Amino acid sequence: MASFVTQNAAVGFVEQYRKTHALIGFAASQVAWDQAEADACVSAFFKPRAAQSGKGFLMPASESLGRYGDLADSEATQPEKDIVLLGVRACELRAREYLDRVFQQDDFQDPFYDRRRRSLMIVSCDCVDCADSCFCPLVGGRPFATEGFDLNFSPVDGGFVVEIRSDRGRALLDECGPNQLKEATAEQLAQRDRQRQQMVERLKRQNDDLEFDAADDATTPLPKDNDGDWQHFAADCVECGACTNICPTCHCFYLYDQVLGADRFERVRTWDSCLLSSYDRMAGGVHMKLTPRPQLLGRLANRVLHKFTYSPQQYEMLGCVGCGRCVDACLGKIDIRQVVQELSR
Ligand code: SF4
Ligand code: SF4
Repeated sequence: MASFVTQNAAVGFVEQYRKTHALIGFAASQVAWDQAEADACVSAFFKPRAAQSGKGFLMPASESLGRYGDLADSEATQPEKDIVLLGVRACELRAREYLDRVFQQDDFQDPFYDRRRRSLMIVSCDCVDCADSCFCPLVGGRPFATEGFDLNFSPVDGGFVVEIRSDRGRALLDECGPNQLKEATAEQLAQRDRQRQQMVERLKRQNDDLEFDAADDATTPLPKDNDGDWQHFAADCVECGACTNICPTCHCFYLYDQVLGADRFERVRTWDSCLLSSYDRMAGGVHMKLTPRPQLLGRLANRVLHKFTYSPQQYEMLGCVGCGRCVDACLGKIDIRQVVQELSR
């Protein structure tokens, strides 16, 4: 059963959530996720997805994995508050499903990811606007979610159709006063469905010069990573790493130990980027290569191949959700849609 809530009541809900949870949304005026004001968070439901992905709430850009040595006076790690992420889009939910396959596989359970994943509450919303770079239908996605959230808000006249998919989503709404909710009418549900279809058509139209249609259960036929055809695109790459940092599915990390004091040390994990020449650098003899992919061409190829060829094989899912963030962020103006379009054979 779907419910209806007015826009004012939705803002009231957000203010109420804030009393009991660390609530993060992105405001219409911002690009990044933050503790925005309630009405700004709800206004952002009507905007395209945020420029920044919510990946950092599952795997922070830098985190301590533990301390060792003389710990007598080391500070205890503060427990993190449960976070509600507000205004999450369907592409982000697919990205989270992908990260689950990476970090919660049988043999490779990551306890740090797992703890955050379990505590994170998701309030998603349908896209009723999109960025020029969005292309989720080309990679099997849709601009609205039907699963993977605790609550989902679909804008309709005067408010939102609200869907509940978990007990804690129901509990969150109950905390805010269930009498604010009414059963959604047939007309409100029909309006939601019409808008969803219109957004799918708009996304297809804005990408109608592209012919590739990648799928979770098929590898996209791209050249090998040492093929000279990649050079056409690699020539524009300046190795800034923006594409991997901003991507909701890129998940490579780097581990290092740092000294905290006499006999005290800390192991730290940070994001890494497969585009950088330092990536995968290995210690060893004088003749050892600094990196397995010394050519930029091979590193750029690897990123694209990992998303469109290796991930379907390894995780039965594409490693790209079509959010378009790397298209917007790339300093070399490399558009991953064009790369796949021109090089897929
Ligand atoms: S590769 Fe680009 S378009 Fe695809 S999920 Fe990552 S940032 Fe989004
Ligand atoms: S964002 Fe563009 S220029 Fe920067 S590393 Fe990625 S592909 Fe290269």
